[in-house]
Formats: sequence, structure tokens, C-alpha cells
Amino acid sequence: MSDSRVKSLSEDIQKLCPCDIVVISPPKYNELYSKLHNLNRLLAWGHARVIENLLSGVSQGTHTYPGINSCDTVIADKFGDKKYIEKALMSKGKQITLIQRPKAEYDIAVAAASIIARNGFIEEIAALSTQIGVQLPKGAGPQVEEMAQSLIEKHGNEILNKIAKLHFKTTNKLTVITPRTDARPVPTRNGLGEPRANNRLWAPWRAEYIYSSKSDVCIFCEAIAKKDAFILSRGAKGFVIMNTFPYNNGHLMVAPYRHIANVEDLTGEEILLLFDLVQKSVRVLKAKMRPDGFNIGINLGKVAGAGVEGHIHIHIVPRWNGDTNFMPITAETKVISQSLEEAYKLLKEGFGEIP
Ligand SMILES: [Zn+2]
Repeated sequence: MSDSRVKSLSEDIQKLCPCDIVVISPPKYNELYSKLHNLNRLLAWGHARVIENLLSGVSQGTHTYPGINSCDTVIADKFGDKKYIEKALMSKGKQITLIQRPKAEYDIAVAAASIIARNGFIEEIAALSTQIGVQLPKGAGPQVEEMAQSLIEKHGNEILNKIAKLHFKTTNKLTVITPRTDARPVPTRNGLGEPRANNRLWAPWRAEYIYSSKSDVCIFCEAIAKKDAFILSRGAKGFVIMNTFPYNNGHLMVAPYRHIANVEDLTGEEILLLFDLVQKSVRVLKAKMRPDGFNIGINLGKVAGAGVEGHIHIHIVPRWNGDTNFMPITAETKVISQSLEEAYKLLKEGFGEIP
């Protein structure tokens, strides 16, 4: 269906039917995604919101409808486990019968809803386009990447959070280090005249981390219990895990199994065995990724940059010449990003080979 056909049908449908539209703008989407870590839960949240709004008689735009108190059945497309929407529904929504099925557009109500949703998307893209002064392309593909790249160059990396869903592959293809354009006098380090970290190493996947509200769950304890976590090696007293919000490719962390916060709490045996794992990690990284150097260290306390405070861990960050800090401020360098999964495969292999 063409955009104009979608628009006219959408108007007709809204004249005939009680409607509610929940628009999730890119910044909100990115925030929700980083909180929920799951697209199905995000979709469920949106569906539940609309259902609750309709049942309460809340409406949007120019049309006002009374509450649809007589409604007892809802039909929705099936995009995951049925429980997702059921869980997301609040008190009003819990009283309805929820039918979910694949290709639910066979039901005219869902088909109509899809058209309204598509129209909402088209309208929002148009509004965003006006706002930033370019025609934003939809979906994915070379023209999208090209446009995103040129917008980054013009407005900085942050523009992406305003106009795109960040958790898709396209974002990783755009990993760039942007040179500072507001060149201020370069602060020096140790009096040696070397520039300090002026270029930001841009890792878009960190946005998820930065925007995510910290939950009570310890990511290390959770990873130990989980099978699909990015654990590379399990030792007697601790383990090696990939940092899923890395500062650099191959950013690893070594942590004890025990949930302890302080260096003083580590036993002699743990210290020894954890450092064995650090040593092994360095060997593997050297063999598989050939870095030029490493940063290895522990952040204790929020003020020192600790993201997970309760569970001590040692960071191992491989560094390559020119990857960030000491890059001349005018240099324009692209960091070839390697996806987490690929890096995991490569390093897992290394941990298997190296004693
Ligand atoms: Zn823990």
C-alpha cells in the first residue's frame, strides 16, 4: 500500500472506529528497549497500553470516544509468547479475553489497526524529517546507512538516539569516532604534551547501558546461572565473561563466583585463581586479536566508575594503536566493529586452545 493510500484509509477508519494510538518515539523506544532488553516485552507494553487506553475511553487526536465498557475480547497479532501481553495488562485489561494468533490481519480489526499504526509511523517520520531538515529514509539498507553517516557527521553521534532504533545491526555498521569540531586547547597529560581523551570512542551499544535503569539483579550472579551468557571460561573460583557493553572489542571481565564487593573480601586462593584467569585472558586476546596493549584494572565504588558495585570484577580492555585516547584530534578514524557474537566465537576458540 502506498503512503497516500495508507493515509486516506487511516482517516476513514478513525472516523468509523474507536481508536487509540500509542506512538513510541525513537528516544522513548531506545529507553524502553534498554530497560526491557526484549523486543517482545516492548511490543507487549505498547499493545497493553492501547488496550487499557481504549477500555478507559482515553483517546488521542481529534476523535473522542466514550469508554468501550462493553468490550470483552481483544485480538492481536502473535509476536511472541501469549503471556507477554497478558502480563503487561493492568487491572482493566485483565478482565478481557485476549486472542493472539499469527497473521491476525485476517481479522479486519487487526488489519485496520495495522493501517492506523503504519500511518502513525509515516507521520512521525515526516515530522522528524521536518525537524532535522532532511527526508529520513525508512527501514534499513545502504541509503539508510549513508544518511545516518552524514547525519552523524553533521550533528554528532547523539542524533541517532533521536531518529533511530539503536539496537539494530545498522547502528553497529556506523561505529565511528567523530573528531571534535569545537577544537579547544588540548589538555595535556603528565606534562608530556600528549593529548588527553579528546576523541570519544563511540560504542553505540553502550547507549543501552547508559540509558538503562540499573536493576537490582547482579549481572555476574545472573550470568553464572544462565547458560547463554557470554562466559568464556569457568575456573574453580571465578570466571571470564565478555563485557556486553564494551569500551572496545574484546573487553573482558574476570569475576569470582562469590558475590562480594571488596578486594579485602577475596581469599588468597581466589586472588591467585582470578589472576590466573587474567593471565589466560591476556594470552588469548594476544593470540586472537593482536592488541598493542591492555588496560587491566578494578573500579571500586561509583565514583571510580564501577557499573556493578556489589560484585567485584577485573576489567581487561585490549588496546590498539590509535584506537582512541592518543589519536590526533583532527584524525577521522573508523573503528571496524566486530559484533559481540563474532568476538565471542573467536575468543571462545582461543580459551579452548590455550592452556
Ligand atoms: Zn553478584
